[in-house]
Amino acid sequence: MKKIIVANWKMAPASFESAKKTFRAIKKTADKLHNVQTVVCPPVLYLRELGASVTGHRTVLGAQNAFWNEEEAHTGEHSPDMLVRVGAKYVILGHSERRALGESDVMIREKVRACLLSGLYVIACVGEKERDAHGGYTKFIANQVRQSLPKINMGKQLLGNIIVAYEPLWAIGKKAKRAASVEDAVEATIFIKKTLVGIFGKDAVNIPILYGGSVNDQNAGEFLEQESVNGLLVGRASLDPETFSRILTARKK
Ligand code: PEP
Repeated sequence: MKKIIVANWKMAPASFESAKKTFRAIKKTADKLHNVQTVVCPPVLYLRELGASVTGHRTVLGAQNAFWNEEEAHTGEHSPDMLVRVGAKYVILGHSERRALGESDVMIREKVRACLLSGLYVIACVGEKERDAHGGYTKFIANQVRQSLPKINMGKQLLGNIIVAYEPLWAIGKKAKRAASVEDAVEATIFIKKTLVGIFGKDAVNIPILYGGSVNDQNAGEFLEQESVNGLLVGRASLDPETFSRILTARKK
C-alpha cells in the first residue's frame, strides 16, 4: 500500500518565489516514487500558481483549512469548492494550532462534512496534549475522533476520502523535546483504527492513519516501516526540500 506523506508548510515560506522553488525541488523526487503519495499543503495564496506546475498524481496539493459553509457572507474564509477550483485535492482540518485558536470539535466536524461533500480528501488531526500514566489519553483521542468526524451516513466513497493524522501535541513544533517513539505511534494508530471501525463499521479498516510530530530524515524510515502507520504529516522538515526528499525516500519496504 502507498504511504501518504504530507508537507504542512503552515505560514511559510514568506515569498511565492521561494514556495515555487521548494515545490519544484520536492516534486522532482516525489514524482519518481510509485510507493508514496506526496501531498504539499502550502499557504492557500500559493495554491493556484503552484497548481499550474502539478503534473500527474504523485505530487498533489492540499489546503490547511476550509470553511464549512458555501454561502458568501463569511469574511476571511474560503469554501471547500473554492479550494477544489484552485487545485487542492486534500485539506488538513483540526490541526492543533487551529484548535488552539478556538476551533472546536463541532466546527471541525462541520468542516470535515463540507469538505468531503466537495470531493476533497480530508486529513483530520487528533492528538492528546500530554500523556498520563494511566492511559487516560486514549479516552481523549477516542473522543476527538468521535466528535471531529460527521455522523452522516457515509458510503464507501466518502469514507474512502478520510485520513486521520495522529499528532500528539507534545511532539509537534519547535517546543517539542522529541518525536513520539515508534511504539507510541504504533499503539496510537492501532487504537485510532479500532475507534474508527467502532464508529463506521468494518469498511473503516481502510482509513489511512498518519503520524505527525517532529518527523525528520533520521526518524522517518522507522515510522514508515510500521504497517499501522500509513504515512506522515511533516511540519518544519517539509520546508527544506533536501530533508523532505530524504523523508520521502526513507521507506525501506
Ligand atoms: C505539524 O505541525 O503538523 C507538525 C507535525 O510539525 P513538526 O513536524 O514541525 O513537529
